[in-house]
Amino acid sequence: MTLERDSAKHPLVIRHVTVSAVSRPTPNIARITLSGDELQGFISSGPTDHVKVFFPDPSTGELTAPVMTESGISKAKGGVVISRDYTPLGFRSADGQHELDIDFVVHGDEGPASAWAGSASIGDPLVIAGPRGSKLLPSEATHVVLVADETALPASSRWIDMLPTSVHITALFDVADPSVESYFSDDQKLRMSAEWFYRRDGLGQLEAALRALGEIGESTFVFLAGEATTLVPLRRYLRRELGLPKKQVAADGYWRRGITNADHHEPIDPTDPED
Ligand SMILES: Cc1cc2nc3c(=O)[nH]c(=O)nc-3n(C[C@H](O)[C@H](O)[C@H](O)COP(=O)(O)OP(=O)(O)OC[C@H]3O[C@@H](n4cnc5c(N)ncnc54)[C@H](O)[C@@H]3O)c2cc1C
Repeated sequence: MTLERDSAKHPLVIRHVTVSAVSRPTPNIARITLSGDELQGFISSGPTDHVKVFFPDPSTGELTAPVMTESGISKAKGGVVISRDYTPLGFRSADGQHELDIDFVVHGDEGPASAWAGSASIGDPLVIAGPRGSKLLPSEATHVVLVADETALPASSRWIDMLPTSVHITALFDVADPSVESYFSDDQKLRMSAEWFYRRDGLGQLEAALRALGEIGESTFVFLAGEATTLVPLRRYLRRELGLPKKQVAADGYWRRGITNADHHEPIDPTDPED
């Protein structure tokens, strides 16, 4: 049984796009549709792909991003570069029109990405880069467990849509309150066995729910993403207590409480880096 995920590389492209629609699938998530000719050829073939999104400097309104040159990508000269990672939720291309949906968690005005998304309107410019590559589905998995907060609902949505119907999906969602449950379509809800936990009810529920799943079989793949410190005990349980191999568990800290622009390449648990 192999749960290794193949990789695909994509040419790195910088794309200038414009907001063409804004909606709220849940009160704390802004769905921004981006359009533009430069989206032609956009590729995202893995459920956990991300694009780097470049935002205007909130104090000047100036949007600074790298540029494509004949010798490759060149850093922007001057200006403040503000970028964050986001999941390409959906891409559509028809009749010469290209549209990319990204779901932004709106968590206040402290973060420039959240502040931008919270007040984005049609016509606003943005720059995206990537995805540089994709990690494909674990082709031999018969069961996938998704553990996610709001920031990883887009990735969860992609897992649900991409996995063959023969694969059983169990999901544990850690969200603000019941209003977030409207995030998934009816078809997606039917596709998974989901449990929802509300942060207002306190911490520790996710770990209890993960433990309650019991034995994790060798053909089960576990994807965990969200606030990094919340994932630490969950990852420790899976990797150290159950002894699951690295190829069976993908734990990605999508953000870290109190840290601006947290680097998701850093180990989520600095005392126990990935082996
Ligand atoms: C691979 C990958 C894919 C991602 N996909 C998505 C996605 O599709 N949608 C999405 O919304 N996010 C996604 N994220 C997470 C997103 O990049 C971070 O939440 C990012 O820090 C937001 O930037 P910001 O400017 O709003 O806040 P920052 O300037 O980075 O942080 C400012 C403050 O806000 C806090 N903060 C950051 N994010 C949150 C949050 N979600 N809730 C509460 N407080 C927060 C920080 O801890 C800090 O104290 C993804 C991250 C990765 C690594």
